[in-house]
Amino acid sequence: SIPLGFFGGIGSASKIGVLIKGGNYLEALNSVKYTVFDKTGTLTKGSFKVTGVFPTGHLNETDLLETTALAELHSTHPIAESVKEAFGGHLDASRVDQYEEISGHGIQAIIDGQKVLAGNAKLMQLGDIAFTQSDNIGTVVHLAVDGAYVGHLIIADEVKGNSASALAELKKLGVKKRIMLTGDAKAVAEAVGKQLGLDEVHAELLPQDKVKKVEELVASKTAKEKILFVGDGINDTPVLARADVGVAMGGLGSDAAIEAADIVIMNDDLSKLPEAMMIARRTRQIVW
Ligand code: ADP
Ligand code: MG
Repeated sequence: SIPLGFFGGIGSASKIGVLIKGGNYLEALNSVKYTVFDKTGTLTKGSFKVTGVFPTGHLNETDLLETTALAELHSTHPIAESVKEAFGGHLDASRVDQYEEISGHGIQAIIDGQKVLAGNAKLMQLGDIAFTQSDNIGTVVHLAVDGAYVGHLIIADEVKGNSASALAELKKLGVKKRIMLTGDAKAVAEAVGKQLGLDEVHAELLPQDKVKKVEELVASKTAKEKILFVGDGINDTPVLARADVGVAMGGLGSDAAIEAADIVIMNDDLSKLPEAMMIARRTRQIVW
């Protein structure tokens, strides 16, 4: 049977917008020694803005934006939304054929009969496209048309106002390591890591690499030490399921992530995590 105090703790958590799916997860919060975070939408706002458009000369800026926006037409990734918003104009879906989203890479599609790749350096390497490195810090979306490199966009995201203080609170609550896992470029990841004072940052990871990182952590710790993962669910559902405690952001998060999660932070405010851990401590004092 579940001690009554757990219901009180779960109720207190729900009052601050944290949904805990069982007393065992509330109790597990007391043993969390490693917190692992997805970057985009979890530590950062996930509301990207196009801040630079750099055609190579084959296209003008508007054409580069339009072709990238067409490639991103069917994608709901925050990067895709920002490109469509920056273009602003009408996009004719009949121009887009054989659309394919390549997880952790970007988009491949046929646009106006031409083969288009829109995505990161890994995607260009996959397509054997020689591309220019960008000096700007931000997420880069390169564009190639029929095997030719035609330029790139720079897209910037901002860290959430509450991320730094929430991470500091976690340290005070006895978390040994606060780790960020991201599919984004090293330069972006390191800038965010420095800004937030994270203990470890791992970049350029595919969804399966994120699962592997968590599994390495599982193998290196003691059984009593719990690993908590927080993600927005955009292709991180497998990691959510692998951690001892999987936490999803309820606002930005996908339905699949909310389903797979043990705990849901309804308003995406990371400061609710240390608050929920405090509730778990108080609950333990009542129950035991
Ligand atoms: P994160 O780990 O930050 O949540 P994702 O795994 O969703 O990021 O994506 C990793 C990287 O793959 C992105 O930083 C971007 O470079 C590239 N990417 C993913 N989806 C898209 C897309 N729709 N358009 C362009 N690039 C994309
Ligand atoms: Mg993500």
